[in-house]
Amino acid sequence: MELWYTEKQTESFGITAKITKTYVDEQTEFQQLDMIETEEFGTMLVLDGMVMTTVKDEFVYHEMVAHPILFTHPNPEHVLVVGGGDGGVIREIMKHPKVKKAVLVDIDGKVIEYSKKYLPTIACELDNPRVEVIVNDGFMHIHDHKNTYDVIMVDSTEPVGPAANLFTRGFYQGIYEALKEDGIFVAQTDNPWFKADLIQTVNRDVKEVFPIVRVYGANIPTYPSGLWTFTMGSKKYDPLEVDTAAIPELDTKYYSPRLHKTAFVLPKFVEDIVK
Ligand code: SAM
Repeated sequence: MELWYTEKQTESFGITAKITKTYVDEQTEFQQLDMIETEEFGTMLVLDGMVMTTVKDEFVYHEMVAHPILFTHPNPEHVLVVGGGDGGVIREIMKHPKVKKAVLVDIDGKVIEYSKKYLPTIACELDNPRVEVIVNDGFMHIHDHKNTYDVIMVDSTEPVGPAANLFTRGFYQGIYEALKEDGIFVAQTDNPWFKADLIQTVNRDVKEVFPIVRVYGANIPTYPSGLWTFTMGSKKYDPLEVDTAAIPELDTKYYSPRLHKTAFVLPKFVEDIVK
């Protein structure tokens, strides 16, 4: 009998993938966690019925969270990742020698544990001595760390369950205060096809807190609609003013110095959502 995983992305639309193996099917303290093997996209982490990452296309998301912001801040020594327990964003951050310390705060230790076991190519830098892993609520962590970080990356689940308060104006205000005076943050902000209202609300809230706000996109085949957005809020540095000729070529598969600014050129219907 064939087994298929289906994610309902709206009430009447979804994506589906053939499953060859189920490694984990567990209700953790915070969410339903599934780790499955799919024929097309390899091992897939699913939380509360939503695809978090797959071995085949994970590089797009993880590179695009980490590199645009790290090449915008001239000296990103102290970096915080909120969520991100699979370790993919940390792996990309570790490609930046300027980063002295990266702190990862995920609410669910089970995501970290199972990612190390079943996603070794993604979680491979979580034990790097430059990395500190903390199991805690990211909302609490930022409120307990004022004026601490150069860069904050929010690699959270969608705004349901434990991540609901990570998409609020109060959270962005907390991030502003947890950043140093020239700090900058980025958050994954879902897709413009089914979540235009969310992108619009986040954009409005971040603009109320940060003087510079920029939205960029990337193509991620296993995420709803395939077109994903990221929102940056900055106190001082503008990703569009970066001298891209000075960006070194890293070992990446999606991000490049050539893509740095073009990622911020949005399709017109997305421009309309965030204007
Ligand atoms: N790339 C994914 C996506 O956008 O679909 C998200 C990656 S997944 C690793 C997100 C992580 O956020 C999960 O491990 C989850 O446990 C964590 N998370 C959710 N709410 C959180 C919170 N309040 N504080 C810290 N981590 C949280």
